[in-house]
Amino acid sequence: MGEQPGIVIVGSGFAGICMAVKLKEAGYHDFVILEKAGEPGGTWRDNTYPGCACDVPSHMYSFSFELNPGWSRMFAPQEEIQRYLRACADKYGVTPHIRHGKTVTALEYDDERRSWSVTTGDGETLRANAVVSAIGALHIPKYPDIAGREVFAGPAFHSATWDHSVDLTGKRVAVIGTGASAVQFVPRIAPRAAHVTVFQRTPPWLQPKPDFAFSPRARRLLRLPGAARALRYGIYWALETRALGFAVHPRLIKGHERMALRHLERQVPDPGLRRALTPDYTIGCKRVLISSDYYPALTRDNVSLVTDAVTEIRERSLVDATGREHPADVIIHGTGFKVVDALTEQNILGRGGLSIQDAWKDGVEAYHGIAASGFPNLFFLLGPNTGLGHNSVVFMIESQARYVVECLRLLSRTRARALDVRPEAQAAFNRRLRARLDPLVWNAGGCRSWYLDEHGVNRTIWPGFTFEYWARTRRVKPGDYELIH
Ligand code: NAP
Repeated sequence: MGEQPGIVIVGSGFAGICMAVKLKEAGYHDFVILEKAGEPGGTWRDNTYPGCACDVPSHMYSFSFELNPGWSRMFAPQEEIQRYLRACADKYGVTPHIRHGKTVTALEYDDERRSWSVTTGDGETLRANAVVSAIGALHIPKYPDIAGREVFAGPAFHSATWDHSVDLTGKRVAVIGTGASAVQFVPRIAPRAAHVTVFQRTPPWLQPKPDFAFSPRARRLLRLPGAARALRYGIYWALETRALGFAVHPRLIKGHERMALRHLERQVPDPGLRRALTPDYTIGCKRVLISSDYYPALTRDNVSLVTDAVTEIRERSLVDATGREHPADVIIHGTGFKVVDALTEQNILGRGGLSIQDAWKDGVEAYHGIAASGFPNLFFLLGPNTGLGHNSVVFMIESQARYVVECLRLLSRTRARALDVRPEAQAAFNRRLRARLDPLVWNAGGCRSWYLDEHGVNRTIWPGFTFEYWARTRRVKPGDYELIH
């Protein structure tokens, strides 16, 4: 048995860094962050595809305790977000706590010692009193299950593991998928490629992207006391109004649908193409995408949109459901991530050897998305049902990190060694959650998305306003936990 830190944080993306900052602020310095890669940053380190940027305004997609008046654009590009995260880790003294090249392969709770053993890929085992899983929801690339994928002769890669050694200049590129990532990289690669064939299974709802560069003067103004904070509040409340349609009734989001259809009409003159790009489900059912250059890219002469499913991949082509063959030199999978599996494929054993798979045999769930019964002192950040379709997940992460600190304080106050959420508290929380989710747009909007598990149950989205989540996680209710001495 190696090192024995008080707390182990797994992952050094937005969530892991936030947790570390909050721990230090509360006086907990005895922790390590185990990071599989050589750099912090999580999703913003991994995703380097052309055009990668956030789709929530940067002044909101950042920590409330580290405003950045210097954001270059309303929606900052990936490298800038990555720089911001690295700077946060340095400024708040988190960097020395990060141990790179450490892939956590197993977590095992020891009932006798009331502690966790944390095993990493290099065979090391650490013992810790508490573990915070900050692994992120979108990090395991999902490849489509298409016959012949392995016989393709050219380069083929996923948007999240972009192969920058492949020069797309003059190549025939096939793009599978039209989600948040694809709408960002298709406009960037289209001018270079000889031809881009975009395979669309479901058209996304797309709204204009109100992006612009902040002038040096605007950035100077944002440095005035209170200015960046005021802009953040403004953005927060503007985004929060979208929850009215998502969380209250889809009727309230009709205005957004009209805006998206006007955007399509303005940017796509061809009625056939427009028809192919018109969604047949309620807006918000899948993530609403924002882009002002995706539709124009699709109208280029060297770009074609195929709406028939890809049924086979051959050595130098893709075949669609009508039997038509589309030649390609390169395939780019913009096919998203294994979201629920990222949770269920973990190797975690809790009290009495309970595996996370057994605990979640009826579906992935947690209390406030943070604690799972049977797994004392294990906390999930961005866990089940804490994703958002309308605002910044960084806000959720901050609420969760503060909640974890409150749990640790409860332990100190009561001199308990561990706390385990009571099954009845977890069940009641999830019953209410399901009852709320059932009539809402993600479940009832007439689409299938990564928000739902294989049984069509929503395991990813928080069904309300973010301030409601913030209020609910402000205090820990001791009665909801079994305190283990
Ligand atoms: P995604 O939104 O899940 O999109 C995947 C796309 O691939 C969808 O169009 C999907 O079609 C399609 N697809 C999947 N399997 C397919 C198959 N077998 N054949 C044909 N098409 C297939 O993935 P993503 O674009 O990587 O984005 C994932 C999430 O990451 C987003 O929802 C967002 O939360 C986040 N993200 C954020 C940003 C940002 O902030 N800028 C950027 C990128 C991603 P269906 O719709 O029919 O399933």
